[in-house]
Amino acid sequence: MRRQWSRPWRAKSPDEASLGNSGSPQSSLQRSSDAQSGPVLVVHGGAWAIPDNLVEAHLRGVRNALAAGWNTLQRGGSALDAVEAAIVILEDDDVFDAGRGSFLTSDGRVQCDALLMDGATLRAGGVGCVEHIRNPIRAARKVLDESPHVYFVGDGAERFAEQHGITLIENSELVVAREIEHLQEAQRRAKAGEQHDVFAGAEFAGQDLGSHDTVGAVALDGRGNIAAGTSTGGTLNKTPGRVGDASLIGCGTYADNEKAAVSTTGWGEPFMKLVLGKWAVDRVAAGAAPEESAWEAMRYLKSRLNGHGGMILLDATGRIGLAHNTPRMAVGYRRGKEEFVTVKLES
Ligand code: ASP
Repeated sequence: MRRQWSRPWRAKSPDEASLGNSGSPQSSLQRSSDAQSGPVLVVHGGAWAIPDNLVEAHLRGVRNALAAGWNTLQRGGSALDAVEAAIVILEDDDVFDAGRGSFLTSDGRVQCDALLMDGATLRAGGVGCVEHIRNPIRAARKVLDESPHVYFVGDGAERFAEQHGITLIENSELVVAREIEHLQEAQRRAKAGEQHDVFAGAEFAGQDLGSHDTVGAVALDGRGNIAAGTSTGGTLNKTPGRVGDASLIGCGTYADNEKAAVSTTGWGEPFMKLVLGKWAVDRVAAGAAPEESAWEAMRYLKSRLNGHGGMILLDATGRIGLAHNTPRMAVGYRRGKEEFVTVKLES
């Protein structure tokens, strides 16, 4: 059993430390004693073999998202507001696989999924396969706030968003040159028979292409409520219409004040088959610390389905769990004056 007061994700080497650990060494994520003392925000920008030359951009994106979400919490915003604000920043940052800069479908389009969930009420709002929305998380918020339904897909989702004040844009506005190249390379590899390995996620096959840059956030606000959100362009070269774990309740996103809030990233199909977000949240409800539960979920993902990815967890007392079984994960949190951002956690 992990020690209650340890920081589990000290950077592993001086090299890794220079890649972002900005937390104070004395701090701890498991201090239930200060749990009631104020808001907490945790953000991720994907878990994969983030190459050295992209580390700085990932750290910057996570810091910017933390700043936006934290600002919202400081102004008295709800956990839901903070999660949305943080995710909008990451969707607008084309480094990440969400909003502009997302991976492309096999026919060269951006197709996004997003979900927001409110732990106080269990209200949730999601959109799947949307192609003309700059910030899918904003559309998810509209569904949560202004619809009796929970999830909209495709045309219906876009129509709903437009009717609720969201401007639709051309799909080409979401496409970046880098992703056109990635798609061409993925399709060349698929033709050469490498597709199977990449989609199975086996041993990080095709590391440069097999990235998981989905974004997500979980927050605890000053009123003691938690929320979770995740936004993604899905996986590279996916078949149009495919929906991953990120926006499915209990798979990639979940929040319940009585349990915990979670957002995941990684190859979505194994997460979906295990309903892994809810699996981890339920373990917290059963008494496990979020930190233990997150790492246990990663071990379960690997041992059961050879899946890989990462997870952020937060309970309503402010305890945080961060874990990944990929070489790196872009992740950070803010609590009081304490900020921690890194691309590598210790298991
Ligand atoms: N989980 C996402 C999906 O499968 C991908 C990711 O995390 O990058 O759609």
